[in-house]
Amino acid sequence: MKANFPFRPEPVNLKHGKPCPYCGGSGWETQSLEHGPQVKRCRCYGEQRRQRLYQEARIPKKFSDCRLDNFEVYEGTGNNKKINHDLSPPHEVAKKLVKKYPAVNKGLFFMGSRGVGKTHLAVAIITELTLNKGVPCLFYDFMDLLKEIRRTYDPNSPTSEFSILEKVVTKEVLVLDDLGAWKITDWTRDIVNYIINKRYNESLITIITSNWMDNPQGMDEETLTDRIGVRLRSRLHEMCQEFEIKAKDYRMKKKKETSFSKKR
Ligand SMILES: [Zn+2]
Repeated sequence: MKANFPFRPEPVNLKHGKPCPYCGGSGWETQSLEHGPQVKRCRCYGEQRRQRLYQEARIPKKFSDCRLDNFEVYEGTGNNKKINHDLSPPHEVAKKLVKKYPAVNKGLFFMGSRGVGKTHLAVAIITELTLNKGVPCLFYDFMDLLKEIRRTYDPNSPTSEFSILEKVVTKEVLVLDDLGAWKITDWTRDIVNYIINKRYNESLITIITSNWMDNPQGMDEETLTDRIGVRLRSRLHEMCQEFEIKAKDYRMKKKKETSFSKKR
């Protein structure tokens, strides 16, 4: 599928490195006015910055087509295709966040089953914030972040733990994907507490996804609080608007089971 960029076409073809036809790549455009030529910032300047912000956001290639307008609120295929009513509210709120940003004071937290589109939604928000509004954003899969930090402990590592964490705690908008998907140790808990508390103190917008829920679909499953601890759980509640998204298949099955057991 071809990415449908919502902004006007690039005057600078960055991919092929061709210079801008308006400024020749200098970033300054000369206009002929009545009283003589006038030099101003080239029209490509803002676009280039937005493209650069998008590149710097570290959005994985497999999510490069994720937009808010191609987010699927339906589940299933063919005749089984039905709207998932858990998906429309977070979709609406995501659109609102992009529209209102920076006049926003809470992030978003999407909890839910694997495959319902949590990451799509989170990525779509930062894609549109970088490309349409020029907002510096950053995407991190939480496991990858932990691995990257761990690698810096190697004495030969060219980067430091600080340089990675610095980016994560200061970036204007951060997506932390798959929170809770790690083996819980004091170290991992310290890292996540540090990031979340720093961002909370600086009132920065954080968008989080997690496969763990407060009310898991399986009765014997661990809850989100079991995974991340009470303190962090309540901190996330303060800084994010939260949504629990359940897979429809499961709910339909559950309903059948309930009505079946009622009959007996
Ligand atoms: Zn130009």
